Amino acid sequence: MKPLSILFATSEMAPWVKTGGLGDVAAALPAALKRAGYDMRVLLPWYPALRSAFPRAKVVAEIPALAPALPPARLRSAKADGLPLLLLDCPSLYDRPGNPYLDANGYDWPDNAIRFGLLSRVAALLGQTASPLDWRPDVVHANDWQTALAAAWLHDQGGAASVVTVHNIAFQGCFGEPLRADLGLPESAWRFDGIEYHGLLSFLKAGLQLATRISTVSPTYAREIQDEAFGYGLAPLLRHRREHLRGILNGIDADLWNPATDAALAAPYAANKLAAKRRNKAALQKEMGLEPVTDRPLFGVVSRLTEQKGHDLLLAIGDGLPELPAQLVMLGSGDPALESGFLALAERLPGQVAVRLGFDEPLAHRIKAGADCFLMPSRFEPCGLSQMYSLRYGTPPLVQATGGLADTVVDVSATTLADKTGNGFVMADGSPHALWQTMQRATAAWGDKRQWQRIQQNGMRCDFSWPHAAAEYDSLYHEAVADRG
Ligand code: ADP
Repeated sequence: MKPLSILFATSEMAPWVKTGGLGDVAAALPAALKRAGYDMRVLLPWYPALRSAFPRAKVVAEIPALAPALPPARLRSAKADGLPLLLLDCPSLYDRPGNPYLDANGYDWPDNAIRFGLLSRVAALLGQTASPLDWRPDVVHANDWQTALAAAWLHDQGGAASVVTVHNIAFQGCFGEPLRADLGLPESAWRFDGIEYHGLLSFLKAGLQLATRISTVSPTYAREIQDEAFGYGLAPLLRHRREHLRGILNGIDADLWNPATDAALAAPYAANKLAAKRRNKAALQKEMGLEPVTDRPLFGVVSRLTEQKGHDLLLAIGDGLPELPAQLVMLGSGDPALESGFLALAERLPGQVAVRLGFDEPLAHRIKAGADCFLMPSRFEPCGLSQMYSLRYGTPPLVQATGGLADTVVDVSATTLADKTGNGFVMADGSPHALWQTMQRATAAWGDKRQWQRIQQNGMRCDFSWPHAAAEYDSLYHEAVADRG
């Protein structure tokens, strides 16, 4: 079969712009698909970080104002390690510092509807006959609300097949009705089975309703979002479209996240050379101002600090850490109440708890290598990459049984140790008590060095490779193209 051509539209891409898992996926999946023979292009805004990385990106198309609120823009092209990028150049919308979604005070940029309306509109345009490029994709692959609206134009006006991937259904991009006309969407699309959602224009709902195919980033999450408790209001729609919905577990970039070659680490190590991992723990304790003790496990956290991630459970039991006994190292940022709560905990338990606020990629690697056990008590987790990284780094994760965590972490028990699948610790429920009990269980397991090593090695042997995920996207794309006819 002829390899398909795909436009991967995204609002972030590592290493330049990343706020979470989507950034990593956007860097790895298109590259894996290109290696598998696909004709790939990645579309994203020419943010400041991309302007610096590709200052001479050539203009390949002028895009006129496509709707009353959409300013004219340009498309530039560049290559990232051979992967073609299409950079959407519109300085008034994208040339601003900091987070791609939030201003310096942590509020949504007030013009996000226009910023991502334009990105979605251009993604659709490139899949249509009116495209200014002489390259036309078979599939426009949109990601999360920021590009999901592309499916609405492709559905309404024709063009490439569309796939919308949900990386996190909690963010839906809902705006007032007047935006419909501002973005040039027809009045006929304003229907409950179109772009309208409870009187608002929802980018994500529109995409889920109108895309040729939908995917999400783990099989368990694909089931969960059909349930009211996880669907954030979209469960009935997803149940309606379940024949077109697939869960495909993300892979991880096994070169970037490799403890044997990771330049950020104090000492490289591998599954058969685990002794060196201890030097990373010692270095991390020193870096973070923790006591250099070896008689207790070090729990690690690298995370956005939000309700989703469940770290309020950890805060509720944090003062008990010396009782376990265990140390805690945390890197994260987010909810101000959680940030100040953890800073206060670190002040109460100096030498035992260390907290660094902010986003720090090398430190994230050092925590995944230097901690003994990685804490990720998320309430929901579409896929979760951090638990896969920590499995690869021989740092067994401790999780709730939800989404991609349920698909990747196998609770340690006599049975799963015997069949060599046990690779982490799964909480019985979502209470602080269950977290406490599971941390006790992990602390006890850590005390048995030979058993702990087996748990580490079970995790390090897991294969979360992108070629595997790419093969599943391949079949989804072909289904979408066949459906589109
Ligand atoms: P989500 O996308 O919901 O934030 P994932 O586990 O899928 O969660 O991906 C999180 C990614 O972001 C991982 O690569 C993790 O290492 C990284 N990350 C999260 N917070 C930070 C931080 N404060 N500093 C550095 N990296 C972080």
